[in-house]
Amino acid sequence: MKLLKEKILNEGVALSDTVLKVDHFLNHQIDPVLMAEIGKAFKERFTTQKITKILTLESSGIAPSVMAGLEFGVPVVFARKRKSLTLSEGLLTADVYSYTKQETNSIAVADKFLSSGDSVLIIDDFLANGEAAHALVDIVRQAGADTAGIGIVIEKSFQPGGEKLRSAGHRVESLARISSLSDGRIEFLSEVEA
Ligand code: 5GP
Repeated sequence: MKLLKEKILNEGVALSDTVLKVDHFLNHQIDPVLMAEIGKAFKERFTTQKITKILTLESSGIAPSVMAGLEFGVPVVFARKRKSLTLSEGLLTADVYSYTKQETNSIAVADKFLSSGDSVLIIDDFLANGEAAHALVDIVRQAGADTAGIGIVIEKSFQPGGEKLRSAGHRVESLARISSLSDGRIEFLSEVEA
C-alpha cells in the first residue's frame, strides 16, 4: 500500500533492529485519511471472504479496524488488555506474551459479542512473533466461530509470526511488509516477495 509505505519511510523511526516506532500516524497520533485508505485496502484483500465481525486488540488495532468495519458493514470488537469492573462475567480469555515488554498479559472479550455463526476477520497494527494474533485466533476458537483471515497493517517479515500463522493455514494479508530495520534503515520486501 503506497501511502502507508510513504508514511512509514517519512515518519517511522527504527528504534532498534526489531522495533519500529510509528506514533505519528498509528500508535499515538492517528491519521484519519490513512486509516480510511487502510479500511478500503483490507476490504479489497478480503473481498471474497464472508466476514460477519472484526476482532482486534486495544488500543492501536482499533482505528484501522473501525475503518475496515465501515467498509465491510460489520461490528468491531476489541479484546481488552486491562481488567475492567464492568467486564467480569462470560469472558473468553487468552494469554499474550510480549517480547518487547517481556511479560505475559491476559486479554478478554465478552462472549456475548462473538458467536458460533461468526466469520471473523482479525486485525492488528503490527505482526512480529504472532503472539497477539494467535491469542485472538484462540478467542475466536473458544467462541466456536471461524477465523476468516488475519489483516495486519505492518508485518515485520524478519520475525516469525507471519510464517507461523500462514503455515498453520491462516490467510494473512499485510498492507506493508518490512524486511529489515538494521542500522536504522527501514526496508520493505520487494513487490515480488510481498
Ligand atoms: P506479536 O504478538 O506479533 O509478537 O507482536 C504484535 C503486537 O506487539 C502488536 O499488537 C503491537 O502492539 C506490538 N508490536 C510488535 N512489534 C512492534 C513494533 O515494532 N512497533 C510497535 N509500535 N509495536 C509493535
